[in-house]
Amino acid sequence: MPAKKSPSRPSARELLFGDLWEFDPAPESAPASIDDRYGLFIGGKMVAPKSKKYFDSISPRDGKKLSEIAQANAADVDAAYQAAAHAFKSWSKLPGKERGKYLFRIARLLQDRSREFAVAETLDGGKPIRESRDFDLPMAAAHFFYHAGWADKLDYVAPGRSLAPLGVIGQVIPWNFPLLMLAWKIAPALATGNTVVLKPAETTSVTAMKFASILTDAGLPPGVVNIVTGAGETGAAVVNHPLAAKIAFTGSTEVGRIIQRALATTDKRLTLELGGKAANIVFEDAPLDQAVEGIVNGIFFNQGHVCCAGSRLLVQESIATEILARLKRRIAVLRVGDPLDKNTDIGAINSKEQLTRIQQLVQSGVDEGAEIHQPACKLPKSGFYFPPTVFSNVTQSQRIANEEIFGPVLSILTFRTPEEAIEKANNTPYGLSAGVWTDKGSRILMMASKLKAGVVWANTYNKFDPSSPFGGYKESGFGREGGKHGLLDYASLQ
Ligand code: NAP
Ligand code: MG
Repeated sequence: MPAKKSPSRPSARELLFGDLWEFDPAPESAPASIDDRYGLFIGGKMVAPKSKKYFDSISPRDGKKLSEIAQANAADVDAAYQAAAHAFKSWSKLPGKERGKYLFRIARLLQDRSREFAVAETLDGGKPIRESRDFDLPMAAAHFFYHAGWADKLDYVAPGRSLAPLGVIGQVIPWNFPLLMLAWKIAPALATGNTVVLKPAETTSVTAMKFASILTDAGLPPGVVNIVTGAGETGAAVVNHPLAAKIAFTGSTEVGRIIQRALATTDKRLTLELGGKAANIVFEDAPLDQAVEGIVNGIFFNQGHVCCAGSRLLVQESIATEILARLKRRIAVLRVGDPLDKNTDIGAINSKEQLTRIQQLVQSGVDEGAEIHQPACKLPKSGFYFPPTVFSNVTQSQRIANEEIFGPVLSILTFRTPEEAIEKANNTPYGLSAGVWTDKGSRILMMASKLKAGVVWANTYNKFDPSSPFGGYKESGFGREGGKHGLLDYASLQ
């Protein structure tokens, strides 16, 4: 139906486009099948926590309680490690092709239940259903399929060498891609013959606990995967347990530092996937329509809760005015709101704490003199929401140009020459990802060789594949996930 005429003053959208066609609400209706309360998944069973404590998991969509999650203490984490160490004895000796069968089964079961899992992920974390349905779930299944294929081919990863498992792996993951990060961690660990103790993030444990039922249905031997929930203290217990042969962590640089310090005097292996402040660089010869779509995808995908988000836009000076004008028009038509609605582009901010952090950093941008652009969109009354935000006139010293905001907020800086673009892009303690938009292939190759970033996308952004290693430079961490490199981080070469 056509847009209702607003009786008061026209919105930015109406001013820019006149009468736009509106969409009717299209909420996803499939049941998410979320239990009222979850225990811990230890030794193949759902068990009550020894701590006897539970905490509420809140849906950022409306701020309401979704479920109760067990709070694992050190004794619970110890039980999980004992189960994993026991399971390692037989799992590590199982022929690769047998391990592969379990991984294939897990991948197929995830596909079978993907709609239910997508709704649960959206309710628990706030991301638009379109993304959980079309990105998180297919990618999570793809990671299990990919690593299932490797399980019986480990002799071919490194020429003339074979791969041996490390033992029990402690894994701690963040809240931005809960199920996908779980898949990135569990699939390579199992394919290489390790067993696992995994801790999801406090605000997003629901799909990990639902995943436990997939492991049970797949007939995975008890103890091969153990899932313990809780806050930072539980994470620290996972990291510091003496039975851990390796810790794999994805999260903030701040916590990554704490973990690296804690492991400094041990022989545990460590991989860290940390934060980022990626430069997305647009040259004047770039296809501008595509570049604007890439910029929008780079910063507004998953509300900007993306470690490799293109949060620093570097635009060649000659096209800066044009790009800003196009971006303002584009963000005016982004649909912000109910993440369960299939037409929503930007869903809910993951938690109240994260919303406060975004608000504070945006205020710092205003206070430090950058120019703010936000469309006049109506945000839902309950839940945690933030409008798409673009800052122009940003200088390198401002906080919004340096700190990871982890929200739908873009900072635009300009450059004149390729050298200046490289200098500015690398002027960050992070080094996770970057984007380059240009018509010239030679310039893409030159930029890719000079940008200190684990991934450089050219004329696209946020493209992922399980066969492509992902990881950081500098304070974005070390180690790779995906591809052969990712397998090597879960094995010792014999
Ligand atoms: P975070 O605060 O570092 O938390 C990550 C995980 O560590 C959570 O499970 C957290 O538990 C746990 N944790 C907290 N304190 C701990 C401690 N002292 N010892 C062990 N574990 C501890 O990060 P976040 O806010 O959840 O996630 C956002 C960050 O992750 C961003 O910086 C983002 O860039 C980064 N990230 C990086 C990648 C990558 O591949 N490089 C991918 C995704 C996200 P709680 O849930 O209780 O806090
Ligand atoms: Mg939640």
